[in-house]
Formats: sequence, C-alpha cells, structure tokens
Amino acid sequence: MPGLYLHIPFCKQACHYCDFHFSTSLGLKEKFVQALVQEIALRRAYLPAAPLDTIYFGGGTPSLLSTEELDVIFAAIGQHFEVNPRAEITLEANPDDLTAEKLAALAASPVNRLSIGLQSFHEPHLRLMNRAHTALESSQAVQRAQAVGFENISVDVIYGVPADSHAIWQADLQALLSLGVPHVSAYALTIEPDTAFGRRLKKGTFVAPPDEFVAEQFELLLSTLRAADYEQYEISNFCQPGRESRHNSNYWRGVPYLGLGPSAHSFDGRTRQYTVANNPQYVAAVLERGEVPATVEHLSALDQANEYLLTTLRTSRGTDLGHLHQALGRDVLAERGDYVTSLVAQGMATLDGPVLRLTDAGKLLADHITLELFAE
Ligand code: SF4
Repeated sequence: MPGLYLHIPFCKQACHYCDFHFSTSLGLKEKFVQALVQEIALRRAYLPAAPLDTIYFGGGTPSLLSTEELDVIFAAIGQHFEVNPRAEITLEANPDDLTAEKLAALAASPVNRLSIGLQSFHEPHLRLMNRAHTALESSQAVQRAQAVGFENISVDVIYGVPADSHAIWQADLQALLSLGVPHVSAYALTIEPDTAFGRRLKKGTFVAPPDEFVAEQFELLLSTLRAADYEQYEISNFCQPGRESRHNSNYWRGVPYLGLGPSAHSFDGRTRQYTVANNPQYVAAVLERGEVPATVEHLSALDQANEYLLTTLRTSRGTDLGHLHQALGRDVLAERGDYVTSLVAQGMATLDGPVLRLTDAGKLLADHITLELFAE
C-alpha cells in the first residue's frame, strides 16, 4: 500500500552538516501550508487507488508546525485520500520543540510515531554541529514523549564526529540504550560541500576524522546495539524485533509513494518526480498558477535495475539477483560474476542461493560496492 511524504522546509537554525532543503526564514510558513494543502488536492490521483499505509512528515523540521497547521494538513489528507485506520503516521521532531504542551497536542493528533533528532548527548558535539538543543533536552524530549503515551519512537544519532577517542561515542550509545526506544537511525557524519562543515573543510579550519576512526565507531554501533537485541535491518537503521519503520521499508521494497512540498521526491514504479527545492518558487507556482513545479524522470529498464540494487543491497533482506534478472533483465552474475565472487572470497558479501547480502565489512563499503555493480 502506498505512502505519503510531506516535506516541511523550515528550521530554526542551520546544522553545520546538513544539506537537506530548508530555510531558516519562517516568513513563508503560513503560505507554504496553504500551498501544501493545495498540492494535496492537485496530486490526489498520483497514487494507485489504495488506502495510505504510511504518512511521513520529514524536513526540515516538521515539529515547527503549529497544532492548527497540522490539523489543516490532516483535514486535507482526509478529504483527498483514504487512510488505513492502522496507518503508521510519523512526524520528525527536534527536542527543543517538544515541550509538554506540544507533545500533548501531538498525542491528540493522528501522529502515532515520533522520529526525534537527538544526534548526540555530548554538549560540545551539539554545539560543534550547531544543533538548536542541549544534551539535557535530548533525553528529556524522549522521556516527555513517552510520558504522554508515545511508545513508537525513533531517535537519530550521528557518529564519526571529531574526537580524541571513542569514549564520547560509547557514552552516547549507553545514553541511547537507556531511553528504551524501539527504533534507532545512526548516520556517519558526512561532509557535504555546500554546508558550514564543507566550507570549513575547504578552508582548512575543520578536520574530518580518518576513515578508520569512523569504521571503528560503526563497529561499536553494531556490537552495542546487537548486544541490546536491536536488529540492523538497513545499514543506518536498527530496531527491536518487528519494529521496522514501515514507511522506509516500503521505500526500500519499491512501493509507490507521493512526496509533497519543495524538494520532495515521488515514485510510481515507472517514473520519479522531483519538486523544485525552492520555497518561494514552490508557493508561487502552487498558489498562483495551480501547478506543481516538478521534474519528471522516466526510468529506463536499466535505471529500474540500478534502483533495485541501490535500495535492496543496504537492507538485511539483501538483493535477489534472480528477481533482478527475471523481472528487470539484468544478469549480474553473467556480467559481474568475477566481482561478486571476489566480494564473497574477501568476506564482504554472502551469496545465499540468488540472494546477495553484505557482511559487516561490506556494509562499510556499501556505496562503493553498489556503484561497482551498477549497469552503465
Ligand atoms: S539537520 Fe534537521 S534541523 Fe538541522 S538543519 Fe538539517 S533539517 Fe534542519
């Protein structure tokens, strides 16, 4: 069953590592919500006629939406889509927004899952990354959310932040475990050119940790979460048994989804659509001209095969090379058999019948291995 993604393109301040689409100027927020409601109506026919299984508010910072704005958006969704009564409805939130009052309002709304961006429990790291919250607020936000009845919580953390040793990351992992949440997303700090860190790296005023340091922190992440009975169901995603994010899992299974808002992507099985990553242009096009400023990319058979590799190789289910061959016409074993054999021989991957899966060592090189297996 299809999913809906809504991109809320506003943040209080720019985190120094972030290259998502957002604006720190909130002046257009009211108009943006009007445009989003309009876009919901304009694009209601994009998805197959089936109840929505997942709704995901991402960003940006969706917790900047007021209760009234959220109500208006849910009313529009309800007017134009059928929603599965058991749909997973996630809202990304930052700890500094999760006051007791805000959480009470969210608990009374259709939102039934929170994804909270903690990133770190170490104050100097939060300041280094220019996060808008303190370490104390990180833990308190989760505890407050649990106190108002949110049990279905995911938290985001970042590793590979510059440090003299692994002590801070180990302490972060213990603080994370003490929260008892069913889902964790853990990302390596990546330095993108168009970010504050990227510009400082270029000027020589920021030094990224060596790859081995990041790899050791990834191994610590795996061993600590596994020992606490979390399953790694995708390279960056961990959950207690049966608590996968339905929204993300559907995305990795190639289920169609509709992305609304500036910079959002949509996928219907044959095409991919990208909405312009510019708030004023988005608002003007939708409100003044009644059109969604988006680029459509028709996926060739080769694109679809690459897409399948890209999304499945990162998951614990792995890539079914038989499906890739029969359904998408790409015979990886005939074309890149030697490379697959060398991956297995080096302990980077396993081949279980037709299913290729990365080992822990292979996961560290997942992007490189995927590129090697891509068809050109
Ligand atoms: S990490 Fe999140 S809160 Fe920080 S700038 Fe990016 S989207 Fe905004």
